[in-house]
Amino acid sequence: MSEVSAAEAALATEGQPTIFDKLLSGDIPSTEVHSDDLCYAFRDISPQGPTHVLVIPKDRDGLTRLSSAREDQKSLLGHLVYTAGKIGKKECPEGFRVVVNEGVQGAQSVYHLHVHVIGGRQMNWPPG
Ligand code: IMP
Repeated sequence: MSEVSAAEAALATEGQPTIFDKLLSGDIPSTEVHSDDLCYAFRDISPQGPTHVLVIPKDRDGLTRLSSAREDQKSLLGHLVYTAGKIGKKECPEGFRVVVNEGVQGAQSVYHLHVHVIGGRQMNWPPG
């Protein structure tokens, strides 16, 4: 398991194409967990637990981070979280964590909104 350092998070560039665009186009491989009209879910390359899935909107449409969501994207946000819940329930019946990292202090490193689903081990609180 590796960590996203504060320095890495600070270097991430908002508004530019991200690695997730290449993943969506198939230019780089990913392990699909779920796909529908609105979202794509795949396994994180650096898993923080036995299950670590990322759920992303297929059309980023300005949705670089949670706080940039527009009013008309509220149902899409609901769909991402709904899908995260279904994946978590299926893979981690004992419980799981759903996380959205935001900005530098939130340790966001990819500016294409993504919902983390992490589970398969005991979580602790507070998070790091
Ligand atoms: P963030 O720190 O919340 O922005 O999370 C970005 C996540 O994307 C991290 O957990 C990375 O491990 C993950 N990630 C980065 N590149 C890839 C990739 O090519 N495939 C799958 N996951 C990736």
